[in-house]
Amino acid sequence: MVEQLEKYAIEFNIPIIQKDGLNFIIDYIKNNNVKTILEIGSAIGYSAINFALVNKNIKVTTIERDIERYNEAIKNIKDFNLEEQIKIFNVDAFDYNDETKYDLIFIDAAKAQYIKFFEKFKNNLKDNGIIISDNLSFHGLVENPKNTNNRNTKQLVSKISKYIEFLKDNKEFNTTFYKLGDGISISKKI
Ligand code: SAH
Ligand code: MG
Repeated sequence: MVEQLEKYAIEFNIPIIQKDGLNFIIDYIKNNNVKTILEIGSAIGYSAINFALVNKNIKVTTIERDIERYNEAIKNIKDFNLEEQIKIFNVDAFDYNDETKYDLIFIDAAKAQYIKFFEKFKNNLKDNGIIISDNLSFHGLVENPKNTNNRNTKQLVSKISKYIEFLKDNKEFNTTFYKLGDGISISKKI
């Protein structure tokens, strides 16, 4: 059951997507007949499993560089009998190369690298596809950067702000921002 994955994530501090953000993406998948998904950042497979459970025709390719999380994801995908629908790769996303074009790309890995992920993986998007990015609010710190004094966190928050500016100024994509979960955006090719 997915509830068990949620419990595990809380116990071991795995940053899985928040419920309302997840439901928002699931609705998008249903309403737009999404069939193929590329996910950057699998963690323990929670979001990939939830996407695959929408219906049997959905194929998810997901990338995780951390070996422990990858192993946990493999186990979870097996427990849900989703090996046919979810392909997972234990590799750094920047070393991953794929010619496939996807309906949906979900960027949910290292927050400081979002512009680079976007630039790399936009080439894997179908013409009418979308890129969804997670954690653009980063616990509200993007809106209120003064709420942290931690140097690393400050840097990360500043990188996310730059990514938001990058999306707003982007000439190839139109982006809509949603204050859902930890902040989500949908970018569509113009
Ligand atoms: N999508 C998951 C949560 C992912 S958490 C869910 O909602 O259930 C982000 C994950 O991205 C972490 O497990 C981290 O190890 C991984 N990650 C970060 N940078 C990465 C990179 N460059 N390549 C592959 N995985 C990366
Ligand atoms: Mg996330």
